[in-house]
Amino acid sequence: MAKFVGAHVSAAGGVHNAPKNAKAIGAKAFALFTKNQRQWKAKPLQKEHIEAFEEQLEAAGIEKSHILPHDSYLINLGHPDDAQRQKSLEAFIDEVQRCELLGLDKLNFHPGSHLRKISEEECLERIADAMNEALSQSSGVTLVIENTAGQGSNLGYRFEHLRYLIDKTEDKSRVGVCLDTAHMFAAGYDIRSKEAYEATMKEFDEVVGFEYLKGMHINDSKAKFASRVDRHQSLGKGEIGLDAFRFIMQDPRLDNIPLILETIDDTIWDQEIALLYSFMEG
Ligand SMILES: [Zn+2]
Ligand SMILES: [Zn+2]
Repeated sequence: MAKFVGAHVSAAGGVHNAPKNAKAIGAKAFALFTKNQRQWKAKPLQKEHIEAFEEQLEAAGIEKSHILPHDSYLINLGHPDDAQRQKSLEAFIDEVQRCELLGLDKLNFHPGSHLRKISEEECLERIADAMNEALSQSSGVTLVIENTAGQGSNLGYRFEHLRYLIDKTEDKSRVGVCLDTAHMFAAGYDIRSKEAYEATMKEFDEVVGFEYLKGMHINDSKAKFASRVDRHQSLGKGEIGLDAFRFIMQDPRLDNIPLILETIDDTIWDQEIALLYSFMEG
């Protein structure tokens, strides 16, 4: 089985609860927040929680390479204000170091927003500098840039933005990308038909390259094609439809990376995971 499907599960009560929550829905991969995502400061990870995390991972039969931690939504590495950006950078470095402590090799993050105060290029420059700084203060963790829907002033909605950040990253062995299907679709990359899917993936390969793809977020979209609006939906109930997810499950270029649901109804994640696996057969 070369596909590793899961969901962004709760880590309420401590990181060690995430593997249990993943196992309960039949997941072979998962995403988590290693701290409360709505607060700037967090207590350091406790030794007993780190140990329990290891034990629960073992019990769930999930490998660390199939875990895709997500950083806090508060962080904006491209913030136009120096003090605000510094606050974000410090929080980001803390997030990277938490992953390092857990022995996790990836951290997924949204690039950042220019807030209409600076140009897109200046904003990308600030993000790249922050990435290089975080890499210099950590080891073993790859920074995984997520593509976005391009809502508001969020960057990362073009594959070229991801490429720009990779080009500016000094250590290319520690940078990667995560493709979110709902964000791609809302940003104007169609995946609804086989032809559209292949064309979009070809463009991704030419601009970014599959060697940088470290994970995917598997979401249908409530928002319309090219709307630049970020609204996730359960699989098959949105504007993308089920075919795209069949193409994904049958695409060998997407083997061995975490494929993570962030769909809106967590009570049916077990069914959505089973549905995705059933697509491997046809
Ligand atoms: Zn996502
Ligand atoms: Zn989203």
